[in-house]
Amino acid sequence: MDEKIACVFCNGNANVAFEELTLLNGKIILWNQPYYKCNKCKKEFVTSEQMLRTEKELKTHFAFNRPIISTGRSLAITLPTDLVDFYKLKKGTTVRLVPEDNRTVKLVV
Ligand SMILES: [Zn+2]
Repeated sequence: MDEKIACVFCNGNANVAFEELTLLNGKIILWNQPYYKCNKCKKEFVTSEQMLRTEKELKTHFAFNRPIISTGRSLAITLPTDLVDFYKLKKGTTVRLVPEDNRTVKLVV
């Protein structure tokens, strides 16, 4: 990542800076996310490279692999403690499974 790039708005000098990024209404906080701030017009922006980095970090921190287990006649997956704490889940909480496409199911809390 370059320390300095040309501002996308005014072509002035933009320096890299870091901030904490809050997502999902404060449920997820990523520290030290890079962005650029222009010295001339004072506008702030991120490059696609920075966006990709942020996305990757998000997926690394909040994606988990879980095997499918069987409980009696049903199949089940267990939830990692990090997710349980994060979304304040407890036994008896109803969650909703929403199919996104033929490879993705979203869990809605
Ligand atoms: Zn600028």
